Amino acid sequence: MKNTKSEQLYNSALQLIPGGVNSPVRAFRAVNMNPVFIKRGAGSKITDVDDNEYIDYVCSWGPLILGHSNPNVKIAIQQALENGTSYGAPCENEVILAKMIVEAIPSIESVRMVNSGTEATMSAVRLARAFTGREMIIKFEGCYHGHGDSFLIKAGSGLLTSGNITSPGVINDLAKHTAVAKYNDQSSVEQVFNEYGDKIAAIIVEPIAGNMGLVLPKPGFLEFLRKISSQYGALLIFDEVITGFRLNYGGYQNLVGIKPDLTTLGKIIGGGLPVGAYGGRRDIMETLAPCGEVYQAGTLSGNPIAMAAGIATLKQLQTKGFYSLLEKKTNSFIKVLINILVECEAKISINTIGSMFSLFFTEGEVNSYQDVITCDTAKYADIFRKLLRFGIYFPPSQFEVCFVSSAHSEEDLDFTQQMIRRALKSND
Ligand code: PLP
Repeated sequence: MKNTKSEQLYNSALQLIPGGVNSPVRAFRAVNMNPVFIKRGAGSKITDVDDNEYIDYVCSWGPLILGHSNPNVKIAIQQALENGTSYGAPCENEVILAKMIVEAIPSIESVRMVNSGTEATMSAVRLARAFTGREMIIKFEGCYHGHGDSFLIKAGSGLLTSGNITSPGVINDLAKHTAVAKYNDQSSVEQVFNEYGDKIAAIIVEPIAGNMGLVLPKPGFLEFLRKISSQYGALLIFDEVITGFRLNYGGYQNLVGIKPDLTTLGKIIGGGLPVGAYGGRRDIMETLAPCGEVYQAGTLSGNPIAMAAGIATLKQLQTKGFYSLLEKKTNSFIKVLINILVECEAKISINTIGSMFSLFFTEGEVNSYQDVITCDTAKYADIFRKLLRFGIYFPPSQFEVCFVSSAHSEEDLDFTQQMIRRALKSND
């Protein structure tokens, strides 16, 4: 695989940008190689600056459910561009996208646009704290909610001891306001509520965990979170930055019939442009300025171009059968893949739902963070590098999800299966 230009760009980037990248996982450190620099994306494929082409299963980490350079999204962006890029004043596209979101997700009565998932979760937690007059939040080990200070906390030595910060620069004092419970473990949540019940402002959870690889909620887990948060007067925040419009038109909450108090969105609703949103019960949302006193603002929030990309994306997702087709395609792919893993005697287990899947390099079921960390990350890195050479772009970390888009063809998926078999069998 030729990578001269990527290497040159990376060397320049290292002089100019910390670690050469604008988001750490892009640096490929977890897979022990230097990153490739991408110059073009079209449909299911991306092309790097050395003209290597890859079938892409990262899809910009989730937003590109329609694949790269979707024609209708491109046209919508071009048309919006004719009228300027940002006004710093309200525009019609904000109202259109807000209406689409409110109509799609019943728990969202009112929604505020921001520019990233991180902004959405940070703001939702501020709002929850203000609304309840409480300071603590509960998050889950292995879930990721962006890089807001309150989330860069991991479990301490015991569940009920203070958490530990995971990044220098986050003030230690903040750690005592974030309790870290275990995903899919009701008793760990009960313990926190037993100890701190009237101090807890909110539980924030990815209803399907997508940031430790794909881990599905056990039956009853999300219902339990709804029940216990209501019981203690805490808010339930579903972080649907990944799952929003990924598995169905709306949130995963629609599929399981649970109404969180607040929901955070991002990725797909921006159609590949920088967007986030948070919304929920009207009485809570209307404590935000200018209705209420909770402050949150944004120069580029709701800008007409990003809104246009989001609207054009959601419109296509409304096509009858869109999600069932995507799910069917992914299911058939996974079915064959399972046979290949058996044939290759690979110690890999697969989690999948809709158009998302993860290959975990470990044996047995993966239902928790504790299961996830048994993975052989060196083996993942080895297979990742081989797949890249064979033209398949998987996430450069064991602990991320693969996404299938509507642009992935049968041929793409067949080829990917063959290359996974080849990678598992090859010793070079
Ligand atoms: N929440 C979840 C569930 C995410 O997966 C992410 C990012 O991957 C975020 C929040 C943060 O979003 P962003 O990277 O747009 O800030």
